[in-house]
Amino acid sequence: MTETVDVVLIGGGIMSATLGTLLHQLQPEWKIVAFERLSDVAQESSNPWNNAGTGHAALCELNYMPQGDGPLDPAKAVSINEQFQQSRQFWSSLVDKGVLDAPSTFINATPHMTFVRGEKDVAYLKDRYEVLKKQPLFAGIEYSEDSRVINTWAPLLMQQRRKGEPFAATRVPAGTDVDFGALTHQLFDHLTSSGVSLRTNHEVRSLKKQKDGTWLVKYRHSLGRTPGDVKARFVFVGAGGWALKLLQRSGIPEIKGYGVFPIGGQFLKTSDPKIVAQHQAKVYSQASVGAPPMSVPHLDTRVVGGEASLMFGPFATFSPKFLKQGSMLDIVSQVRPHNLVPMLQVAVKNPDLITYLVGELMKNHAKKVDSLRTFMPTAKDEDWTLIDAGQRAQVMKKDPKKGGVLQFGTEVVSASDGSIAGLLGASPGASTAVPIMLGLLKKCFPNEFPSWEPELRDLIPTFGMQLNTDAALAEESTAATAATLGINR
Ligand SMILES: Cc1cc2nc3c(=O)[nH]c(=O)nc-3n(C[C@H](O)[C@H](O)[C@H](O)COP(=O)(O)OP(=O)(O)OC[C@H]3O[C@@H](n4cnc5c(N)ncnc54)[C@H](O)[C@@H]3O)c2cc1C
Repeated sequence: MTETVDVVLIGGGIMSATLGTLLHQLQPEWKIVAFERLSDVAQESSNPWNNAGTGHAALCELNYMPQGDGPLDPAKAVSINEQFQQSRQFWSSLVDKGVLDAPSTFINATPHMTFVRGEKDVAYLKDRYEVLKKQPLFAGIEYSEDSRVINTWAPLLMQQRRKGEPFAATRVPAGTDVDFGALTHQLFDHLTSSGVSLRTNHEVRSLKKQKDGTWLVKYRHSLGRTPGDVKARFVFVGAGGWALKLLQRSGIPEIKGYGVFPIGGQFLKTSDPKIVAQHQAKVYSQASVGAPPMSVPHLDTRVVGGEASLMFGPFATFSPKFLKQGSMLDIVSQVRPHNLVPMLQVAVKNPDLITYLVGELMKNHAKKVDSLRTFMPTAKDEDWTLIDAGQRAQVMKKDPKKGGVLQFGTEVVSASDGSIAGLLGASPGASTAVPIMLGLLKKCFPNEFPSWEPELRDLIPTFGMQLNTDAALAEESTAATAATLGINR
């Protein structure tokens, strides 16, 4: 007889790990089963070498406060920062509860900087600084056009830099580098030790709604190819790039009109201790024309498994696969009558993106190090190697005015009865896993959610509050999580 459980999580990435942990804290008696098609969790986008590990809080990323015609608006940057504070508070509570290991195993203080060149961008960065320094969540931001000051923040940016060119930088000490792979592993370790069943090497093949309201989840063992099934009251499709195809297979009408566009990535990496010792920051800059917001180049300190290295990129690549270990047929098999027009519209209306991607594909190793030299003039080709990052499956969807749009955020798609939900898209991604999953819980569990709020406030002390509108609360809250996590406030 088919086993019936409360929750099925599809995919062993940071999103399923976060949702599973939240649900387990809120309803410890619920039976949860997680399926992962690969032999271990955190092997796709959540793996530390498949993403950049930036704790996205809008401290350094210009795309959250772009230059427009009018005055700069901090609303989006503040909102991303507020979301990251929820993730920080959740992780901090889990450290206190012993669910997560020592914070340095997954999060490390790494100042976030923005570095720009040329008069126009210098003026923009200065304006951005003037606006953000008044926001309580950005209180520690510093600005400089002085090479001696920037040299103390990030010496690699200044060594042998050509004289005469205007440049400027901002720096926020509260920035972080996060190993989302370690976080995913630790969350799943705790879940499995608390009775959650994690079934690796199990690929979910189909989802069918039953008359009794449950979902019949059919899977296949990836090694023996033996099939099996389980029934669930609620299904979360946390399958990363494959979420679209599973949601399509579920037949829910809410997925109509959606498609995804895969963008791969590569990073230059060095572990040379002499170079690594000279850089302790994540330095973002302006995106090239046509580049998607998440392809902004950055020179980062990464700490993985206790070892520091530097990464630069990402450089966009193209593959038709929606996951790094996906299928060459992914891009064509998503096509349905309801998403064909929106997808064609996206192709026609984004010529800058296509030009940008072609330009990126033409770059060989030397050209990639040339790009790095705009950040680090002393970079040598032989010190850096290219590594392949994860696939980003960007959302394309129907738009009543434009026909079809390409969007760079994440989006939860759920059935109207809340019995199934999945996550599409990539940015800001893992950093905002906690607020994304809180939003999903509210949407899919409207009856239970009010009774969960006291427990949620225990896990996330400022749950339901805005920090940026209350400077004292922002100070108190960020100082508390910083002390637990060993990072800067
Ligand atoms: C190049 C790059 C840089 C990034 N940089 C950052 C960053 O700096 N900061 C940040 O916060 N975010 C970043 N992100 C985004 C972040 O990595 C993702 O948002 C996040 O890891 C997504 O987690 P996930 O759990 O949804 O997906 P994944 O980690 O991809 O996990 C999905 C899992 O589902 C499994 N799966 C798929 N189909 C099935 C099936 N049918 N049955 C069973 N299992 C299945 C897959 O094998 C995989 O393990 C970056 C992403 C990329 C690609």
